[in-house]
Amino acid sequence: MRPHAGTGGGLLTACLPAPAAAGNAARAAAALRIGGLVPLTGVDYPGELAAVVFCQGCPWRCRYCHNPHLIPARGAVAIRWEDVERFLETRRGLLDAVVFSGGEPTAQGALVAACRRVRELGFRVGLHTAGACPERLRRLLPHCDWVGLDIKSLPEDYGALTGAAGAAGRAWRSLDLLLESGIRYEVRTTVHSEFASAPGLRRLADALWQRGVRHWALQLCETSRGEARALGSNRWRPADLDSIGPEWRERFDTLALRGAG
Ligand code: SF4
Repeated sequence: MRPHAGTGGGLLTACLPAPAAAGNAARAAAALRIGGLVPLTGVDYPGELAAVVFCQGCPWRCRYCHNPHLIPARGAVAIRWEDVERFLETRRGLLDAVVFSGGEPTAQGALVAACRRVRELGFRVGLHTAGACPERLRRLLPHCDWVGLDIKSLPEDYGALTGAAGAAGRAWRSLDLLLESGIRYEVRTTVHSEFASAPGLRRLADALWQRGVRHWALQLCETSRGEARALGSNRWRPADLDSIGPEWRERFDTLALRGAG
């Protein structure tokens, strides 16, 4: 998730219902609220060149959110879906995929139609989600080719991290749905010394592995932007992550340990 200019709008407090039946996917996708567009990235969808569409709105308020301007249902920046399609038309043969990020993309019912349109235009679909809306995710998964899912913590710590009652059940339910789907994925966990300890990460590693996770990324929380600035400096270093769990490399098929970036 990346920062974009823009503030304002009312706070999105729930996963919004799908828009009324539209005549086709393009019309339904037009309801998608978009707060940013990155035309080219090589790091947001593994192995693919992608554009990133930043969806506006998120029902949670994470302590380390890097994109707080995308939390309100409406922001200062509003990009029309038809302009995204127009842009994609010029990128056929140049881009492989479109990644929907946020904010929380699954909070918007129009996302299903947008994913369908991306495939109709000839691109693969990537999704970054915190799993805040599992039933919406269940309907989205058949339209996705790769998913990056944030599992922020063990269930008991979710409320303090996200400020949202019931967040743990939603996120871990989304994890089950993703694993059942068979779609390529990466589970991601953001680490900061303020809320992540070595014993806690070991317990989380056990819980994820037992749940069936085989592709996991630990990423150090960057503290230079967004809400994360209030957390102060992060005492974790990439080498620390490696040293607390050498056996993890044997358990997980892929295990990424990422510095703040
Ligand atoms: S899930 Fe948390 S980190 Fe992600 S956009 Fe929402 S508030 Fe920010």
